[in-house]
Amino acid sequence: MSAKIIDGKKIAEQTRGKLKAEAEAFVKKYKRQPGLAVVLVGEDPASKVYVGNKVAGCEQVGIKSFAHYLAVDVTQVKLIELIDKLNRDKAVDGILVQLPLPKHIDERTVLARLDPKKDVDCFSVSNAGALLLGEPCLAACTPAGCIELIKSTGVSMSGLNAVVIGRSNIVGKPMAMLLLQENCTVTICHSRTKDLAKVTKQADILVAAIGKKEFVTGDMVKSGAIVIDVGINRHEGKLYGDVNFGEVSKVAGYITPVPGGVGPMTITMLLANTLKAARA
Ligand code: NAD
Repeated sequence: MSAKIIDGKKIAEQTRGKLKAEAEAFVKKYKRQPGLAVVLVGEDPASKVYVGNKVAGCEQVGIKSFAHYLAVDVTQVKLIELIDKLNRDKAVDGILVQLPLPKHIDERTVLARLDPKKDVDCFSVSNAGALLLGEPCLAACTPAGCIELIKSTGVSMSGLNAVVIGRSNIVGKPMAMLLLQENCTVTICHSRTKDLAKVTKQADILVAAIGKKEFVTGDMVKSGAIVIDVGINRHEGKLYGDVNFGEVSKVAGYITPVPGGVGPMTITMLLANTLKAARA
């Protein structure tokens, strides 16, 4: 069997077209652009690329971006002062703090300071809690993008076995919550899971968010499964997913490539959340 490729780039472009129209309608109604503030601390090359892509995405759909680049040795107090300022700023509808932050800054303290109404990547306790309770909220961008990619297959998720590998607060846990909302039977696996392949082989939907190059091999996947590869692993100047694409694409029914799968959807969901926050 040869899997159908889920083209994240194409789906992201189509979604951004719709968001552009929504942003235009917003400007007409409120006489201002929706605004997203992006905060980057330090010079991490990958983070710089992500922030650059977010700013470019804003431009593409007509969202005003406010990029704040802070020195790697900025104090936690100064960073929190900036967050407070952005929380008060009426031109800013969404705030994204690019992670990871340098070690001398306590990530949880900083993220807790975000106004939940502007927390467009679902980093705050209040948004994460709302997601858990199934209440309206700004859902985490990467998992929300994965759900859109699964929906694009046309396969009904209700009742399917979904397995998420990874339990991070940014991907694994919110991913599991969103799959549960779609009425999947959800299993979360992680580094202590025993006999991982036995669990993953049961998955009709398999989401890999591990951070290990080509970790998921063909023998771990059920025939015909939908495989969503969240991983971004850099190796000798090339990008690799968490899934061994060559092997798994022979077994799965649908698969996302890396690059060109989940990545473009993550930023698109950030733009969608910013518009949602602006309209709230
Ligand atoms: P993380 O390091 O916080 O979490 C990794 C998870 O993998 C952990 O929960 C751990 O228990 C699990 N894990 C590690 N080794 C394992 C093993 N041997 N067996 C089973 N589980 C194992 O990472 P994260 O922030 O969740 O990101 C995961 C990957 O997704 C990374 O490659 C990251 O770069 C990528 N990512 C991509 C996007 C995107 O937009 N495409 C967004 C966020 C993260």
